[in-house]
Amino acid sequence: MDAGLNDAQKLAVNTLAGPMLVLAGAGSGKTRVVTFRIANLIKHGTKPSRILAVTFTNKAAQEMQHRVAELISLKPDERPEISTFHSLCVRILRRQAEVLGYPAKFSILDASDQSSICRKVLREIRMADSTLRPRDLQYLISHWKNRGIRVAQAAHIATTDKEHIAAVGYRRYQDELMRCAAVDFDDLLLLVDDLFGTYPDIRKQEASRFDHLLVDEYQDTNGIQYNIVRALAEGHRNICVVGDDDQSIYGFRGSEVEHILSFPRDWSGATEIRLEANYRSVGSILELANTLIAYNSNRFDKILKAARPGGKRPRIEQFKDEESEAEEVVKSIRIQIARGERNPREIAILFRTNEQPRVFEQELRKHDIPYVILGSKSFFDRKEVKDIVSYLRVLSNPQDEPSMRRIVNAPPRGISNASVMKLIDVATEHGVSLWEVMLDDEALKILAVPARDAVRNFIELIRRGIKLFEERIDADRLQQFITDCRYEKEVARNSNDDAEREMRWSSVEEVVNSVSSFTEKRTSPKLESFLEEIALAASDMEEDKDKQLDKDAVALLTLHASKGLEYPVVYMVGLEEGILPHKRAVAVEGEAVNEERRLAYVGVTRAQDELTMSMALTRRKWGRVYEQIPSRFLFEMIGQADNPNAYNPGKKVRSGK
Ligand code: ATP
Ligand code: MG
Repeated sequence: MDAGLNDAQKLAVNTLAGPMLVLAGAGSGKTRVVTFRIANLIKHGTKPSRILAVTFTNKAAQEMQHRVAELISLKPDERPEISTFHSLCVRILRRQAEVLGYPAKFSILDASDQSSICRKVLREIRMADSTLRPRDLQYLISHWKNRGIRVAQAAHIATTDKEHIAAVGYRRYQDELMRCAAVDFDDLLLLVDDLFGTYPDIRKQEASRFDHLLVDEYQDTNGIQYNIVRALAEGHRNICVVGDDDQSIYGFRGSEVEHILSFPRDWSGATEIRLEANYRSVGSILELANTLIAYNSNRFDKILKAARPGGKRPRIEQFKDEESEAEEVVKSIRIQIARGERNPREIAILFRTNEQPRVFEQELRKHDIPYVILGSKSFFDRKEVKDIVSYLRVLSNPQDEPSMRRIVNAPPRGISNASVMKLIDVATEHGVSLWEVMLDDEALKILAVPARDAVRNFIELIRRGIKLFEERIDADRLQQFITDCRYEKEVARNSNDDAEREMRWSSVEEVVNSVSSFTEKRTSPKLESFLEEIALAASDMEEDKDKQLDKDAVALLTLHASKGLEYPVVYMVGLEEGILPHKRAVAVEGEAVNEERRLAYVGVTRAQDELTMSMALTRRKWGRVYEQIPSRFLFEMIGQADNPNAYNPGKKVRSGK
């Protein structure tokens, strides 16, 4: 068990009880400690099902499950519970939501459902778009929720006009969600926090399911997650958290680095462990990372030494525009692959903003280099995928109004938008759902006879579907239902030619495929668990990451999505003021820029053997060309922060002493 661990790691892995904090820099083996510790607990007699480990992404959870299985053999039904905060909370709520007034089969809304509810809410309170746009409302609601601010408090803390209107909108938004028996992503955490706060018995009941709690990436917990961790662990006090204050990158979502720093005060008698060897990156890369992060004040001072000193010197390169940046980066990737020095999967391109990957994608395609975009939602954003998933959501929870509205007339079946709006007015007036109004023959009389018949046929369709998926979901049943819906008509209607029809139809096929792989994994595949998996995967976009495991492809991913991962060869692109640090941070400076610096630190520390950082001297925005300034982080990394002339634009600049 101790093989491949240093002394500090051994101590962490062999201390099996009581609170423990592992606070250490990037690549020092924190995640390794968590997996080994889980295996060691099991070896010492803890039942796997009594262990709960929480990580930041689905991918990380899978990876951890996998690594534990490698360390110790487990029966398939005797596994530790390893999950993200969100899936942990979904499971708790499925058991307990009824006391909060939600049915156990509540729906989980995605961002586009949220925005359609925000639009509806603003229409109802008759707000012109100019005062508060739907997306401002959506942003403010999420901002508040991430900071644990409930409807009642929002009205109190609102200061500007916008915030006052948003507070009113927030209340209506929550009423809407309740009416649709739906929760949004932030609610998952907030509702569990409410549940634990209001019902101590339920808290005890949920906490007593486990004897050990381990949390990875603890620096990124927000106040609500902090409360949940506390609520689950305060009974047994066997809580082990690992993290790195220098990698806290979710401040904009309300995460507070204070939580990790105050751990020893919160949990008296905590064992504190520091890991000081970095096993990931060669010395030359680690040196840059250490130099950079030293520019942040208010950090917990840590030592991080390279277990592999020396190494190839990181490169810094300047290009005339974003196209030549992409060309050159891809060229260098191409050469390494052609020479057989690297496999595509060993290489990653990291970027800050979502506009950046497009040119890289084009270049990679041009040269037939396989790549995957990690952290892209594209699959779930496709219309066909959203439609089919909405149908399934309606079958699971007919009250789910955003989903209902999506599919009620897709394909067209004679229920016009005007008819739907009439029914929704009735529903809103009586505080019931659209579905309930549809079922009410009296209420339907406001519609003309043909529309009424169309609604009745639709109800029959939904009822047949509910019955079909009552026991289980599988690919055959889904196909049968898609035929029953006549969804092919919708695909045909939206396609201009055969090629487009085929492409759209293949998205439908992919949903069927995902159902089929889901059923393979489960002994009793339920519709609700499938929807849950889809909702959670779409949310942190981790689904795509699996693709890279079986595909030998270059990874394109955002710095945020790269947390916890490692690649032999890393390209960090777009190191320019306004990109990294992001322009929103530059506008306010201070802590916002410090967070960007931590993000840059995360990027640099993903690289194992080779790192290239690049920037473009000009960049096109909305068709106009703008000059770009090198990122301050570049100057800092090479120890020239006070000397902007150290940079000589026009010439390739290489780092080093
Ligand atoms: P991050 O801060 O980026 O999340 P981390 O601290 O979680 O990093 P790990 O991912 O656990 O670090 O480890 C980084 C790399 O170092 C991994 O490849 C891991 O296998 C390796 N490693 C960790 N500890 C040791 C060790 N004692 N001996 C050899 N290799 C190790
Ligand atoms: Mg880690």
